[in-house]
Amino acid sequence: MEQLEVKDLTKRYVAYGNVTNALNSVSLNVKEGEMVAIMGPSGSGKTTMLNILGCLDNPTLGEYKLQGKSVETMNAKELAKIRNQSIGFVFQQFALIAEYSIYENLELPLLYWNLHNKKHKYSKSEMRSKIFNILEALGIKEHYTKYPSQLSGGQQQRVAIARALLVEPDIIIADEPTGALDQKTGAEVMKLLVDVNKKGKTVIIVTHDEKIAAYCNRRIDIMDGKIQSDKVLVNS
Ligand code: ADP
Ligand code: ADP
Repeated sequence: MEQLEVKDLTKRYVAYGNVTNALNSVSLNVKEGEMVAIMGPSGSGKTTMLNILGCLDNPTLGEYKLQGKSVETMNAKELAKIRNQSIGFVFQQFALIAEYSIYENLELPLLYWNLHNKKHKYSKSEMRSKIFNILEALGIKEHYTKYPSQLSGGQQQRVAIARALLVEPDIIIADEPTGALDQKTGAEVMKLLVDVNKKGKTVIIVTHDEKIAAYCNRRIDIMDGKIQSDKVLVNS
């Protein structure tokens, strides 16, 4: 089944009398379990695309359907729920909360889930076991009482990936997830994302790095708000 369906999507910005079509009549479908790289030079529309795919922004024209449902028809509450439960976000600069410990950073998506979910709420002990399980799986368990600034970039990105995975979303959206890391650490983070994908989650990564795109099984190149090419990659 198509998990993401984008049809004739245009995003237009008007600023100081300038009109920019950041995306210009783009169509694309992503199936469950794909690992997709979105590539293109600076200003080509990659971030705009991710923001729309992540339901953080709306298109000017065209349609975006997530799991069969048109995003345009969702109200603020439904959108908030989708952003918490269906999509996990990973950013270049990790976006952890500096004043919170690693444990507290990881508690946040679960607390937020409890706010949005009437049927199932996580108890404190469920939260604790989920958090420690994921910290263990990502090899950062011993750091749970530390603060983000006490960790290396690679460790912080592991925490950010843990945070994205905690509520078990179907889709992971990552914006230059290795952009702030050295090559070796970046490769380790990419291997984690490949593992996440192998467990069945859809992973969509914006990058301008060819080596990062090579971890994916599909590569979409964007230029001036249009898709230039959309290729299946065969990984070794
Ligand atoms: P990329 O992520 O590939 O660098 P973006 O999606 O950020 O590209 O931007 C695509 C185009 O849209 C660029 O020309 C950029 O200047 C323009 N743009 C992006 N955001 C805005 C905004 N909020 N207001 C006006 N123009 C914008
Ligand atoms: P309880 O109060 O439920 O008996 P504790 O909170 O004292 O249990 O700790 C149980 C386990 O949780 C500890 O053995 C430890 O591994 C883990 N833990 C340690 N620190 C924290 C923390 N800040 N928040 C949640 N769990 C923690």
